[in-house]
Amino acid sequence: MAHDNTCIFCKIIAGEIPSTKIMETERTYAFADLNPQAAVHALVVPKDHYACVSEVAKEDPSLLAEIVSTAQAIADEHYNGHFRLIFNTGENAGQSVFHCHAHVLTGQKLEGE
Ligand code: 5GP
Ligand code: ZN
Repeated sequence: MAHDNTCIFCKIIAGEIPSTKIMETERTYAFADLNPQAAVHALVVPKDHYACVSEVAKEDPSLLAEIVSTAQAIADEHYNGHFRLIFNTGENAGQSVFHCHAHVLTGQKLEGE
């Protein structure tokens, strides 16, 4: 599904809900997380609606590669190229928005696992 009218991230991509843009590529959009967990905390989403990262991997592997490249470009621009990439997948893993999104944490040295 290209666009889901009930999805908050589809609304952000469409500009119907404001967001702080960090980067955009042909098929991805990156914006600042409302509740940042690092000096730079971006969410990288495919512009088309997919429920989770596994769906993207299965249906369009090159789009998953583009999400990773966008994460790298954000870390290159805002830090020294180092970043943490997290895809919460499923409710029990902490996924609360069911539009695939990569959390990109960067902008500082990250501690922990
Ligand atoms: P999840 O818990 O699904 O892995 O991550 C969802 C993320 O989206 C959370 O980190 C939350 O702060 C962020 N978020 C939820 N609603 C909005 C919103 O309307 N705007 C922005 N910028 N971030 C949001
Ligand atoms: Zn969506």
